[in-house]
Amino acid sequence: MIDSLLIANRGEIARRIIRTARALGIRTIAVHSDVDAAMPFVREADAAVCIGTAPAADSYLRQDRILAAARETGASAIHPGYGFLSENADFAEAVIAAGLIWVGAPPASIRAMGLKDAAKQRMIAAGVPVTPGYLGDDQSPARLQAEADAIGYPVLIKAVAGGGGKGMRKVDAREEFAELLASCRREAAASFGNTQVLIEKYILSPRHIEVQVFGDRHGQVVHLFERDCSLQRRHQKVIEEAPAPGMDAATRAAVCDAAVKAARAVDYVGAGTIEFIADGSEGLRADRIWFMEMNTRLQVEHPVTEAITGQDLVEWQLRVAAGEPLPRRQEDLAIHGWAMEARLYAENPASGFLPSTGPLDRLHFPPGVRVDSGVEQGGAVTPYYDPMIAKLIVHGTTRREAAAKLAAAARDTQVWPVKTNAAFLARAAAHPAFVAGAVDTGFIERHGDDLIPAADPSPAVLAAAAAALLPEGRDPWVGLRGFRVNRTPVTSVAVAVAGSTHLVAQPRAAGHNQDGVLFLDGEAWPFGPPRADMLAGGSEGDGAILSPMPGRVIAVLIAPGQAVTRGERLLVLEAMKMEQALVAPFDGRVAELKVAEGAQVPEGTLLARIATGEE
Ligand code: ADP
Ligand code: ADP
Ligand code: MG
Repeated sequence: MIDSLLIANRGEIARRIIRTARALGIRTIAVHSDVDAAMPFVREADAAVCIGTAPAADSYLRQDRILAAARETGASAIHPGYGFLSENADFAEAVIAAGLIWVGAPPASIRAMGLKDAAKQRMIAAGVPVTPGYLGDDQSPARLQAEADAIGYPVLIKAVAGGGGKGMRKVDAREEFAELLASCRREAAASFGNTQVLIEKYILSPRHIEVQVFGDRHGQVVHLFERDCSLQRRHQKVIEEAPAPGMDAATRAAVCDAAVKAARAVDYVGAGTIEFIADGSEGLRADRIWFMEMNTRLQVEHPVTEAITGQDLVEWQLRVAAGEPLPRRQEDLAIHGWAMEARLYAENPASGFLPSTGPLDRLHFPPGVRVDSGVEQGGAVTPYYDPMIAKLIVHGTTRREAAAKLAAAARDTQVWPVKTNAAFLARAAAHPAFVAGAVDTGFIERHGDDLIPAADPSPAVLAAAAAALLPEGRDPWVGLRGFRVNRTPVTSVAVAVAGSTHLVAQPRAAGHNQDGVLFLDGEAWPFGPPRADMLAGGSEGDGAILSPMPGRVIAVLIAPGQAVTRGERLLVLEAMKMEQALVAPFDGRVAELKVAEGAQVPEGTLLARIATGEE
């Protein structure tokens, strides 16, 4: 067996590899960039070497420094994880040439599958069904257009060197082809330094079905069944599961056999994934599943396969790399229950999924879920690497049970102040169409409105925030489930949630005076007692005094032109039997007064305007 292992990666996958290596008694060595020095994977490894600065090109992609670190620390093997150098055949060769064990695919297999066009040619030769399309060397726009016309629209233009959902354009009609080809090539040149493309028929009702394969150095290849990764956003996986919904035994046998054939065709050793695209318009059928590409490494979503087979795929990788035979024969592998994984990302679904970075003051996951994460509470999400915070992995006896567990896990995830897609994941996993197994790669786009949480706090959030402001609610982190507004409120409390003020019916009087964050259904809401600047409504800068809620003006304490000082009471509103004073945001004078006592005003009404002296 390997005695010491350097992990040429970071974050959750580095931790994942360390966990298994440690269980097998293998000494672990982390390499890291300077900004990652305090990350859990660095601490958890037996030794760590800083190999450069934050940009991957200066650290995680520096082959020379990684090899030097292996020499210095006496490592006997290198595991590349996924991403970074994991599918770099030159690096694999350099590792082997340095006399180290490469815990990855053979360089020749990586090369054979590295470019999508060459890989497809190879698969055609091996008798594996591939997506119909054009793979030729003639890359002139005219020829590509003619091929696309012949295939029939919609088609997909794919950069042969593409990956990670980049370098792909769907073309719906002939007229769009030239422009989309040009933009695909620009992206491919920038991201992969290669402008070669192929054209594929765009499969309708597309489902992403992939098969986990494993080979050893003794000529054995097995599969560990399929995964369904159809739930995608912009061609990137969001929720993965195993097995695939609606896969019958005959179809499974056909696709898994095709995967084994594909792996054998490139003399595969180690963990690999054969990705297929399926036309799911009439369920999964063996004659409607085509090879798409092979990923010659461990996959992000490998845990769902571990969950249904009871195998540790990193252990398999280490044993195979050390020259041992595969731990199990094909006939000893079986599917148990159903597993799902969701990728928790640092991004904001409400703002078009913009990435969110910053400290992780709160990072909490519910019990009973496998959480593979590279960060911890008190850490941070930096802008340099992948925005994935964690993978939530659940297992159930049935698909329905797994989906319910996944939805609950996402709902009970608490992250602050970094924004996440937790609520989005919870809604997706609980969506009736998802629960029914009606998944294809268009699911998220189709159901986007149901999945993206509203920007404003719900009544449940407001009620919960108000409850938390009561004297007993001292905990700054508040997680609530199924909170209901009391039916017979005796009073109201003003509460500021996410920067705006709301009135909430309350069974008891408010009295607590502390800011906190409320977690409900995967969302996080900062709350606290309302402050003067919030009560004044509009932003401090413009001096607009807006009604923070619908109500009645019960007192006007100012006159036009009057001088006022910051914090001075200007008007009193009454709503839901509670009075609220609106105060001056800064020193100035009353430039406008728009209401009189007794006026009923809707929320957001301009009541008055304060101007500074100079105006
Ligand atoms: P990458 O290297 O970026 O992973 P893939 O070739 O694996 O690229 O494709 C990524 C995703 O794009 C697939 O999971 C699928 O959702 C979609 N896709 C790829 N090829 C097709 C196709 N021919 N028809 C429909 N969708 C496709
Ligand atoms: P972690 O270790 O992930 O922070 P713990 O379950 O150990 O999570 O909780 C740490 C503290 O956070 C607890 O002592 C408790 O005060 C608070 N906390 C955790 N979960 C909740 C929740 N659902 N609601 C309110 N407070 C919570
Ligand atoms: Mg792919």
